Amino acid sequence: MSYKELKSRIDAQQVTFLDGGIGTEILRRGYTWASHQLKSEPELNLEIHQDYINAGADVITTNTFQLSKRSFRNHFANDEHLAAIGARGLLDRAGELIHESVALADKARRSINHNDTLIAASITTLEWCFRPDHSPDVEEIYDEYLEELTDYADAGADIFLFETFNSTPEAEVAIKAAKEIGIPAWVAFVPYQDGRLLGGQSMAEVADAMARNEPDVLLLNCAPPDHITAGMEQLAPLWDKPLGVYAHVGKFNPPEWQFTDEYSADQHLQECKHWHDLGATVIGGCCGTTPDYIKKLTEFFS
Ligand SMILES: [Zn+2]
Repeated sequence: MSYKELKSRIDAQQVTFLDGGIGTEILRRGYTWASHQLKSEPELNLEIHQDYINAGADVITTNTFQLSKRSFRNHFANDEHLAAIGARGLLDRAGELIHESVALADKARRSINHNDTLIAASITTLEWCFRPDHSPDVEEIYDEYLEELTDYADAGADIFLFETFNSTPEAEVAIKAAKEIGIPAWVAFVPYQDGRLLGGQSMAEVADAMARNEPDVLLLNCAPPDHITAGMEQLAPLWDKPLGVYAHVGKFNPPEWQFTDEYSADQHLQECKHWHDLGATVIGGCCGTTPDYIKKLTEFFS
């Protein structure tokens, strides 16, 4: 389907399905998620995308969380130090992997005749997503976003999914860059247990900032179900445009993930029903969720 068709479904409040975790799924299938495995295990990436499409996802996300030039650069004192001790071509690697990630998602949809599945580029904050106190000065990051988004656009992504954002100023810069490129922006924020963003902003502040910047869909993600519920209860009454949600299941076990049995696919579905009642119509899963979780959703809501 074209993005236009998807958008009209979303605007008509039909439930639209995202995929589930991909980094954690790579981990669950016996590999480390630390390096994305785009070059080393392309078949694994491909299979996971295919499994989510077969589970009924309308939108699959690239395996590119935290993949940016800055995440390589951050390991070094400065560019001179990087040139002196870094592997060759390190600064070009993010761009190359971005192209490969979109190509793999595209290959997955074509290989099982689901050319109508849309590809969302997974893009998080430039610094670590759970550290709003490390968020860079917004005056300095526009060009960085523009460069990164241009790579995704050239590679053929249909949607920019800005996810696990912890404050509105960086999201506003990201949306502005997306608008310059002309690809729809979806923005997902992390709520904490009090329903505020990790950076402390209230949902009223989120709604105000997003009303000025107009992402196509506003979502909450990468928090356990009770935090998502706290955020949704505060955000939904303030937002009459498309709203979405994808919670995580399990515990963060840096640098990877710990799977727990706290929320089975059935229990997760019950939570999603509640969020749907509150107003969420774009629904999927974050870290720890699997194709089975998405299948439960698509079977129930379709
Ligand atoms: Zn997550």
